[in-house]
Amino acid sequence: MLAPYAFRPEESRGRRYPEPRHRYRDDFQRDRDRVVHSRAFRRLEDKTQVFTRRYSDHFRNRLTHTIEVSQVSRTIAAVLGLNEDLVEALALVHDVGHPPFGHAGEHALDIAMQAHGDRFDHNLHALRIVERFEQRYADFPGLNLTFEVREGIIKHSRDYAAKDFPQLAEYVLDQRPPLEAQLIDLTDEIAYNTADLDDGLEARILEIDQIREAVPVFARSYAEAERAHSSAAEKLKFNEALKLVLDRLVSDLLENSRNVILNAGVDSADDVRRCPRRLFAFSPEVEAERRQIKDFLYQNLYFSPMLRQDKEQGEQIISDLFQYFMDSRGSLPESYQEKARHEPLHRIVCDYLAGMTDSYIQDQHRHFCAAG
Ligand code: MG
Repeated sequence: MLAPYAFRPEESRGRRYPEPRHRYRDDFQRDRDRVVHSRAFRRLEDKTQVFTRRYSDHFRNRLTHTIEVSQVSRTIAAVLGLNEDLVEALALVHDVGHPPFGHAGEHALDIAMQAHGDRFDHNLHALRIVERFEQRYADFPGLNLTFEVREGIIKHSRDYAAKDFPQLAEYVLDQRPPLEAQLIDLTDEIAYNTADLDDGLEARILEIDQIREAVPVFARSYAEAERAHSSAAEKLKFNEALKLVLDRLVSDLLENSRNVILNAGVDSADDVRRCPRRLFAFSPEVEAERRQIKDFLYQNLYFSPMLRQDKEQGEQIISDLFQYFMDSRGSLPESYQEKARHEPLHRIVCDYLAGMTDSYIQDQHRHFCAAG
């Protein structure tokens, strides 16, 4: 059933710690299941995607976003004959490295780390989680995931230059990742671009007319939804329009990538690796529409005054606690104090804070940094 360019489990470069084969699950199915059973995956439930729970419990969080990415990715993988299990493992793991408070948290941690000549990067953090921090198995540290899932964590959203990241040398940085990993970056965008329009409307930060004015693809879809459902409630017409936008993005990514893959003449997963470029892409027309949605969300949602208060609060909590633990390492849990004997304290504090859920870090902040 797999296409010639799909990644086959028997081609895997394997695990860091070799393990016997499972009776009825292949290695990528096991990786997917290990991710689902990890603590970092469960914590996604209480990590902000864009909206904190202060306003409503209808919004996406990082777990439901992850499930949406997985759903869209598996649909595309199935149609193109890609390895659905590898795709699902990669989709489910793609955001485990995110700190509390969404991008505000990421930004605040990065700023705190820069003061120590270091950086925070959620992909590198995700790799540390699956390689070391998850302690579930007696025979090895971390989840002992296959090479391809670890490679996908590193390569799903950006390219790392080998000269700047010598620690990533084993991940063949000069080569493209398998198509299964290339897919995730774009389905991630599809999922959050459409979901954020939905949640933004639900939060009453965005209005339907405002989206129609600024986002032509939405305006056309809304007109189509109005023709088909003229007597439906406005929110239901909006839902139908958004469904059309989602379908357009997914169908275009699927069809355009299928053509690019065929034209590239790749006959194996190895050929995909050696291609000069990534092969998953929207058509130029839909790429422009994707860009318009994204720009609209940046201009009208992500920096809106209503979200600003939560963001500033999140950044403050992270920077307060970072400083607090740097000054009082004795307040860190024993296991982190032990780690700080082998690695710089700022790295250990960063790991500790990045792993926290939104509610846990708020509790910690009240406990250690409350005024007075
Ligand atoms: Mg994501």
